[in-house]
Amino acid sequence: MARPEDMWQCQTVNCGYIYNPDKGDRKGKIPKGTKFEDLPDDWRCPICGGTKKCFRPLAGEGSTAADCELPTTGASEGLTGSASPEKKGSDKENADMQKYVCNICGYVYDPEVGDPDNDVAPGTSFEDIPDDWVCPICGAPKDNFSPEA
Ligand SMILES: [Zn+2]
Ligand SMILES: [Zn+2]
Repeated sequence: MARPEDMWQCQTVNCGYIYNPDKGDRKGKIPKGTKFEDLPDDWRCPICGGTKKCFRPLAGEGSTAADCELPTTGASEGLTGSASPEKKGSDKENADMQKYVCNICGYVYDPEVGDPDNDVAPGTSFEDIPDDWVCPICGAPKDNFSPEA
């Protein structure tokens, strides 16, 4: 098993890829067992294309994200590529913002508001509410809720 200080995490916003020397990087043709330090300098994060400088070890002292260089060649392509998943992400967020109505009492669960009185933080989609959550008005369990039309 790799030690935490041998595991390096990409610091690029929205990336978070972790290089695990036990696994290497098949996409980058890095064989298993290659230490992060031994990766070629032109090795790039397989997720976001950031350079090795974008990485920090999970434990111990390491370089900082300040030196991080994202690819400049084909960057526009890469940026477009990263922009569309982001857009998808917000679409998904919208889908998660589906309101649910209690079939018993008509209470509407609004994900943007959550149910702070019952430890459900604002922004929690109905699906992500714990199964033991009940309607704060009438106490009906989650199965009694339907998506608001
Ligand atoms: Zn990355
Ligand atoms: Zn209810």
